[in-house]
Amino acid sequence: MKLTFLGTSTSVGIPVIGCGCDICVSDNPRHHRMRSSVHIEAGDFSLLVDSGPDLRHQALRHSLSRVDAVLYTHQHLDHTAGFDELRAFCWEREEPLPLYSTESCLNELKRVYDWAFSEGNSYKGYIQPFAIPIVNYVDFGDLRVTPIPVEHGSVETVGFRFEQGGFSLAYLPDVKRLKAGSAALLRSLDHLIIDCLREKEHNTHLSLKESLALIEKFKPKQAWLTHVAHEMDIEKVESRLPKHVNFAYDTLSISS
Ligand SMILES: [Zn+2]
Ligand SMILES: [Zn+2]
Ligand SMILES: [Zn+2]
Repeated sequence: MKLTFLGTSTSVGIPVIGCGCDICVSDNPRHHRMRSSVHIEAGDFSLLVDSGPDLRHQALRHSLSRVDAVLYTHQHLDHTAGFDELRAFCWEREEPLPLYSTESCLNELKRVYDWAFSEGNSYKGYIQPFAIPIVNYVDFGDLRVTPIPVEHGSVETVGFRFEQGGFSLAYLPDVKRLKAGSAALLRSLDHLIIDCLREKEHNTHLSLKESLALIEKFKPKQAWLTHVAHEMDIEKVESRLPKHVNFAYDTLSISS
């Protein structure tokens, strides 16, 4: 199994439009972040987690030509606004494209992109979405994907646990607190990828201190911080983090 970070920023991306701060004007590629999304390859399956507004650039950068399913964490636009780009993965498909998420997120996709889900959508080559609520888990060959319910403002949100053979990782890009039952899904992880917006506290995202507390609690072998804002100078902060905690960056891959 291989996970590639297509994007690792918070909702506005880095550089931020119109911002002249040291991070936004830096030529360090680790400071250039597209909106958060990951690509998973497992066996014959190619899976996308979220379809954010940078999907087109992300797909071109990684020569992504096939996606077998999309898993959505939640309905916020920085995770869904690239929906129309999914066309590129439907031109060659005979079957509808499965979209997995919570019922509420799928309902919001149906509301915003109603034409794609309507009976009038018979245009060959356009997205033929097939919305599938995940109740407990979904298997792609020997890869098991289990949603991890979290608190993230008022919007129903999940992260995902991916497990194949003895290897496991969890991806939680947008989270403020865990929900009941989630803790069991975060134990014995090889990799924990977790929201870490900035050092200052935020209402709907984990701050650095809060992310580190969860990492300390669940003790993954390796932790990666993602959904980062431009207030975070990762080069300065990383030097004082525990050895097994690093900032994720766009194009980084991790494998089993
Ligand atoms: Zn987000
Ligand atoms: Zn900035
Ligand atoms: Zn969000």
